[in-house]
Amino acid sequence: MLDIGVQTKNVVYDDCPEKGFALLASAGFSGADFSLNAYLNNTSIYTMSNAKRSPAPAGHELGDAPGYTMSNAERSPAPAGHELGDAPGYTMSNAKRSPAPAGHGFFSQSVQELERFFTPHKTGARSAGISISQMHMPYPIHVPGGNEELNAFLWNEVAPKSLYVCHFLECPYIVFHGVKLARSMGAEAAEWERTLAFIDSIAPLAKELGITICMENLYESAGGHLVEGPCCDAKKAAERIDRVNEKYHAQVLGFCFDTGHANLVGIDFERFMTTLDYRLKVFHVHDNDGAGDLHQIPFTFTRTRENMPSTDWEGFRRGLSNIRFDGTLSFETAPVLSAFPDEMKEDVLRLIASIGRYLGGEATSLMLMKNMPLHDSTTSPIGISRVFKEDE
Ligand SMILES: [Zn+2]
Repeated sequence: MLDIGVQTKNVVYDDCPEKGFALLASAGFSGADFSLNAYLNNTSIYTMSNAKRSPAPAGHELGDAPGYTMSNAERSPAPAGHELGDAPGYTMSNAKRSPAPAGHGFFSQSVQELERFFTPHKTGARSAGISISQMHMPYPIHVPGGNEELNAFLWNEVAPKSLYVCHFLECPYIVFHGVKLARSMGAEAAEWERTLAFIDSIAPLAKELGITICMENLYESAGGHLVEGPCCDAKKAAERIDRVNEKYHAQVLGFCFDTGHANLVGIDFERFMTTLDYRLKVFHVHDNDGAGDLHQIPFTFTRTRENMPSTDWEGFRRGLSNIRFDGTLSFETAPVLSAFPDEMKEDVLRLIASIGRYLGGEATSLMLMKNMPLHDSTTSPIGISRVFKEDE
């Protein structure tokens, strides 16, 4: 049986995290997608960017990869005597602190302060028997043409601190959004270079902390249409992931397949998932009508009165079994919980968990029936050994 997870947003609250985690456990979940992005949501990032624009530092121009340049310029190797478990980033982070833009308190706290803040969440999850199986980094990590100060803060403070929180919560995967610059830069390859710069800025820390950062397939809106955004080409994504992991000799980069985003732009689920194969580490499972990113419960939408699902859930099940997925199947359905009355929260969560068991059922039963070994993620299809040491 696959582990099933769901977002903590709208379930786990800061005043008593234990209660929310206990609710997840009683509804049938064993994993949780920790909504770290709720502590710096994207609306507030865009609002801040528009509200407070400061002059660019000398030689540093808009449209000239502001975050990239500043980020690299300010990055230095880890100080000597920098050990795991010793809140290393705290020191590093303070030494090179990008000032927090006004009104931006949460991530301007030190790593130790953040750890203190999230201690009840950690103990609450543990006592409920829920493992924090993935989390979502605040996004975007770069506002195109946005406030310099804010972009530097996102790259230099928010991203690394997110990794420290991830490590503190004993979570192996953190999902981030690649930059959306293909249109403004005129080429997808240029956009990828910028995302790669971001990955390079946090990959050494991810490796040190034993975390795999995962990029997800996104959409963009253009002229009233939703079109493919970053990471919608599975073959390209697979090659890029391999290249990054070979560079760092560690599984620092993986993939998060978002079913809702994929449905919006007509991606073939089974083919996409099968191409990504072992690189697919986590999921954002949710449904929509094919027109809006609604984050609803699978099987909710149909295209016609004949009531066939608008999303290819059977293709999704085949994809899971093709890759012999054995991780946590996690739902990104927090908005469902604000649509239903509070009194129905547990029932709704129960339904989501049982849909998870159905979706993952084929993968699980195939593995059991044929007594196939679990997918060997240490070997790539082209035979290159991907055995990485634990401490790398
Ligand atoms: Zn998502």
